[in-house]
Amino acid sequence: MFGITKFHECINGRSNLTIYTDHKPLVGFFKPHAPTPEHISPRLLRCNDDIVPDAVGIHLLELSSGIPVNRKDIVEATQQDPVLRVLYDALSTTWPDVITTPLQPYYNIKMELTTLDGCILRGDRVVVPEVLRGRVLASLHAAHHGMTKMKAIMQSYAWWPGVTTNITDIVKACPTCREHQRNPTPSYTPWPTPSRHWERVHGDFCYVDGQNFLILIDAWSRWPEIYPVRNLTAAELIRCVRTAFATHGVPNLFVSDNGRQLVSPDFENFLARNGCQHLTSAPYFPQSNGLAERTVATFKGFVKKFNEGDWHARTDRALFAMRITPSSATGEAPAVRVFNRPLRTPWDVMKPTPPHPEPEANRLPRLEPGQPVSFRDHRPGAAKFSPGHIVATLGNKMYTVRDATGQIHVRNINQLHRAPPDPPTPAQPRAAPKKDVAADWTVLDIEDDGPQPDPTQQGR
Ligand SMILES: [Zn+2]
Repeated sequence: MFGITKFHECINGRSNLTIYTDHKPLVGFFKPHAPTPEHISPRLLRCNDDIVPDAVGIHLLELSSGIPVNRKDIVEATQQDPVLRVLYDALSTTWPDVITTPLQPYYNIKMELTTLDGCILRGDRVVVPEVLRGRVLASLHAAHHGMTKMKAIMQSYAWWPGVTTNITDIVKACPTCREHQRNPTPSYTPWPTPSRHWERVHGDFCYVDGQNFLILIDAWSRWPEIYPVRNLTAAELIRCVRTAFATHGVPNLFVSDNGRQLVSPDFENFLARNGCQHLTSAPYFPQSNGLAERTVATFKGFVKKFNEGDWHARTDRALFAMRITPSSATGEAPAVRVFNRPLRTPWDVMKPTPPHPEPEANRLPRLEPGQPVSFRDHRPGAAKFSPGHIVATLGNKMYTVRDATGQIHVRNINQLHRAPPDPPTPAQPRAAPKKDVAADWTVLDIEDDGPQPDPTQQGR
């Protein structure tokens, strides 16, 4: 039904449609001009008439090519089997005093054995007489399921002493089963846990929608570095890896698969020259570089969602998401592991701002009005710094300064030097010399206002 719905645009209106199904109720359902069955599943009922095509033929597939052994065969063969005949009697009455060797395997599990309608059962599995075992095995093996599945199926239906060995033998002797059997369960040694950031880095290339990327991932922090690459060359690989090394330093160990660029002499030389050991995973055994593989999968998930902008923008958005998301392995976001602080994100605006320590500039000793200073003088021909006195404060770092001539200048604190306090000044004539302001600036602030107490002096 799924197939019909999925491909209805392709098959609707075709004059020669033939349907093959293994589901008997569908045979009536698809028959041309057949009345709707009285009992029909709601799922079928929901199928729009438009979707149901007119099939010229509908054929029911047999699920299997005939049942190889039926109950009647088992009953007959059980009665003819010299061991099972004795066993059947023993289970029906009492066990003989002497247990013969062929009977021993059954005797060992006698508590599990019962009889039913001429068959012997172990639990709910039928005990297959010897003459039929080959046929049962052959029918079970027909689909070349492989050892595990064959054993699993057999565990639901049939048993005889040595059945597991028989299945193992038949699968081992079968080239088709051998060809499709799974790789042995990898017995891999987990990587030793690195002790710091960028100690062991895994690298891999990945490909998303026509663009290649180099993926680097740190094993300790799970911090990813990802670069869209222009081409898959060793030179491009080195360019990206060099950028990463410039940021994070040279790792002790670089792990990669056997990609052509990754094992190229140029790249190997680059790593060796930088004192970085290179370890490549075994061919066709990428699990040893599983960290990079998983990072590739994560990156692909993110970069496909961030589908606006060019590849650099999309990569940066994916990287940001990956770096602020806690890793299931470490329980911390990569950024927190690397920087010892979370990265600020757009979501931070939701949170109330904690009072943050005053910026360092604010903690500079403040200059009070009246404080003698030398200020950066930009006037042509003037000395680099000229004397003056603070008049007022403008914000955190800005001050107004009055110079010797009474002119007011606005200066940043970085353009001001604290000058020695003015000496206690005896009353001076108003017409104080103003010839050499740079040489004798400490007294100049009184030239306009007359003698006055020095506020800084009082304050100290
Ligand atoms: Zn096979």
